[in-house]
Amino acid sequence: MSSGKKMSLTVKVLLGMLLGIAVGLFFNLSGLNADGSFVNTYIVNGVFHAVGKMFVNALKMLVVPLVFFSLICGVCGIGNIKALGRVGSKSFALYMLTTAIAIATAITIAALSGIGKGMNQSSDAMFTGKEAPPLVDVFINIIPSNPISAMANGQMLPIIFFAILVGISILMVGRQAKSLVELAELGNEVMMKMVNIIMSVAPYAVFALIAKSVANLGLELLVQLLGYVGVLIGALMVHLFVTLMIVLKVFSGLSPRIFLQKIRNAQVFAFSTASSNATIPVTLRTVTQRMGVDNSVASFTVPFGATINMDGTAIMQGVATVFIANVYGVDLGVTGYLTVILMSVLASIGTAGVPGVGLIMLSMVFAQVGLPIEGIGLILGVDRLMDMIRTAVNVSGDAVVSSIVAKGEGKLDVAVYNDPAAGTFDTDEAVHIDEEAEAELAQTLREAQAH
Ligand code: ASP
Repeated sequence: MSSGKKMSLTVKVLLGMLLGIAVGLFFNLSGLNADGSFVNTYIVNGVFHAVGKMFVNALKMLVVPLVFFSLICGVCGIGNIKALGRVGSKSFALYMLTTAIAIATAITIAALSGIGKGMNQSSDAMFTGKEAPPLVDVFINIIPSNPISAMANGQMLPIIFFAILVGISILMVGRQAKSLVELAELGNEVMMKMVNIIMSVAPYAVFALIAKSVANLGLELLVQLLGYVGVLIGALMVHLFVTLMIVLKVFSGLSPRIFLQKIRNAQVFAFSTASSNATIPVTLRTVTQRMGVDNSVASFTVPFGATINMDGTAIMQGVATVFIANVYGVDLGVTGYLTVILMSVLASIGTAGVPGVGLIMLSMVFAQVGLPIEGIGLILGVDRLMDMIRTAVNVSGDAVVSSIVAKGEGKLDVAVYNDPAAGTFDTDEAVHIDEEAEAELAQTLREAQAH
């Protein structure tokens, strides 16, 4: 198959996204999406909502079994506890480092731009912050008292912990546990096939998700908050295109241009779902099959990153802090800003990659430095759009760190990384059932039954 044809999924997904923006804008600007109207009730909050939600559910459905199987394979693939510790500590250090740089950049850019100065501090919007979990609980809860309940609730850190321990125990049992490893490998392969099936309907789902979000956006609000929105998007872009790419080049020598091309699919999924967690299957597929990162590294770094690494979210917090401090005329001083950096980095560990969590973390940061929590009400209206953009930056950070750690461990296939067609697939191919393989399986089962 020609590589041009193979690229069709990315192209289709991008088309779905652009069409979604166009239709959403049309519904919004023409007033067709007014509350209670036919379009609002049956199309935007009816069909678009249902299609989008079903797709996000389908992605989330894959996360737990995929992470579980691939981590067991990963640990058995590394085959040595020391190497596992190295992958763990390197990725943790890099995740924290990039998050700290992200927020420092954001604070600097926002402070230089002077956003929010002289703005009216009264706001109609109300925001009462939800509680973020206390940090000590975050650490305690890494160890699940009941792994099944952790899986049922999609709690990533306890699942990671349990799967790693299962992998290590399998290694310790040795040869006798061979069939368990094979089972995990097959499970992983089956789940990856499922990722392909679900990705093949992505163009339509992405259209529905984006059209719904754009149709419901408060466009006037966007204009009112132009300063905040502009500085935030600017800081996110600086981090994605400059900081992360320098980090990638310096620590791994890999080409940033190729990285930016290959990460696009994962970014679009993150943008449409506003959830790093729901994007895990796509990120995992992208880094392993498109970028050549070995599953032994990616199976750990990707779900770990989706949980603890949130560069985009940290940037939002930096910009929002400066903005609200200026609006309320509060001078935080150097200590205040250093506290913000520390708090954001810590808060990112304790909160999962799901839509809107950034605001919960922000209220935690505000409480710490004494900024009025209700100030968050000012930026609430544009947060959904900002969430979509920052989530795309979050997953890009996860993929950068995965590539760096894999390269350092000799677990990155540079030929795959440099091959533009690696891991691309045609949507028809994704749902294609090989008749020969099917017949072979049926025959094997018949033989087994005959025995
Ligand atoms: N939605 C973001 C994520 O999933 C988190 C946030 O900033 O709210 O990574």
